[in-house]
Amino acid sequence: MTPETDVLIVGAGPAGLAAAIELKRQGVANVTVVEREPEVGGIPRFCAHTGFGLQDLHRLLSGPSYARYYAAQAKAVGVDLHTATTITGWEGERSLAYTSPDGIGTLTAKAILLATGVRERPRPARLIPGTRPHGVFTTGALQRFVYERHLPVGKKAVIVGAEAVSLSAVMTLREAGLEVVALLTEHPHHQLYFPYSLGKFWLLDLIRRTPILTSTRLRRIMGTRRVEAVEVLHTADGRTETIPCDTVVFTGDWIPENEIARSGGLIIDRHTLGPQVDGGHRTSRKGIFAAGNLLRGAESAATSALEGRAAAREIVRFLTDGRWPDVRLPIAVEAPIAWVYPNTLTAFDIASPRRTFDFRVQTFVEGATVQIRQGTKHLYSRTFRHLGPNETMHLDGRWLAQVALDGEPPVLSVEA
Ligand SMILES: Cc1cc2nc3c(=O)[nH]c(=O)nc-3n(C[C@H](O)[C@H](O)[C@H](O)COP(=O)(O)OP(=O)(O)OC[C@H]3O[C@@H](n4cnc5c(N)ncnc54)[C@H](O)[C@@H]3O)c2cc1C
Repeated sequence: MTPETDVLIVGAGPAGLAAAIELKRQGVANVTVVEREPEVGGIPRFCAHTGFGLQDLHRLLSGPSYARYYAAQAKAVGVDLHTATTITGWEGERSLAYTSPDGIGTLTAKAILLATGVRERPRPARLIPGTRPHGVFTTGALQRFVYERHLPVGKKAVIVGAEAVSLSAVMTLREAGLEVVALLTEHPHHQLYFPYSLGKFWLLDLIRRTPILTSTRLRRIMGTRRVEAVEVLHTADGRTETIPCDTVVFTGDWIPENEIARSGGLIIDRHTLGPQVDGGHRTSRKGIFAAGNLLRGAESAATSALEGRAAAREIVRFLTDGRWPDVRLPIAVEAPIAWVYPNTLTAFDIASPRRTFDFRVQTFVEGATVQIRQGTKHLYSRTFRHLGPNETMHLDGRWLAQVALDGEPPVLSVEA
């Protein structure tokens, strides 16, 4: 591997590959992508169902076809791809250490893009009491089990979560021949917004027939060698219920793969847990950019790919003029807002106030007026008929021109 390159991209998922392709198209000579897995493509490689590509490729593909498309494009435009290569830490301002089957080494670049994605919080991190039997998965682990290793899963599954990614678990379990006996959600309504289910009428029908237990919490997993049942608490009335099953799938509850960002001293946003970025994907460290799910948990693959492309254009700008903002003003959020992204403002954002901001909420709110203020100054407000968890909402950037970059952090909140 050449130890010096123009742009080094960590992670060959949709964000990393789309960024690499765009960089080559924009004329960057040397673009290196490192991926710890034996193949490039990221999470979609294991999602053997349709629902990928509508917004970025303008057609509907299965996860593996989508991953193959980006891999082929990257090869065709001459991206230097290295699989089975893991970035392990920093060796300098823009130098990263790697380990690969050929040994260890250091890669130095003029700019670095972190696109390391996200993972689901597994059972131990969710502190679920009970025994430790076989048959407990995250969606990602389940999909590897089924599609990569072709192993039998079980017969009856309970899915913890009722959001978009839970549908992916439903589809995988169905392919593996399991019956889904219940989906559990702590919220009073499910959050199945069906973005991944286009063209899947059987799925809509299946979901209609599957019990979705709202306002419930998984209290305990039971079973000695194999899962035998789960105990569920109905939070509205305190009732407990035992549901026989042999498989439990934890879906959603994302943790950004932020180890490289953290070890590089990048400022981490305490709400998204990803590196803090401005609207141009610039992190708090000069020449280091970030894109994709690393920034804020799981959006669609297309959103991540489009972010990768947008980051690539900002990287080209940086390679050309070397400019980097010296003042960064974080954006604060107040409950029930869960996070906002981008989550820091720089002079680059103020200069191009057409940016959009994404945000999510923790709970359902009807007729919510979302406002932004800086100190006592009111900057913006917009009323939404309905806000719900696990659904991304958007704000335009008309308020940016009024922000004082040397003032207090602007606060995004829901008007009481
Ligand atoms: C179960 C499931 C189902 C989904 N279904 C859909 C769907 O139907 N439609 C849709 O549009 N989206 C779907 N998504 C979302 C979609 O997969 C993601 O939005 C997309 O993969 C994010 O792209 P990314 O490039 O940010 O991250 P990833 O795809 O996660 O890629 C990040 C890559 O970085 C690599 N990496 C991490 N750390 C290192 C390191 N230190 N060194 C080297 N490499 C590293 C990882 O191995 C990985 O390949 C689904 C997600 C899940 C989990």
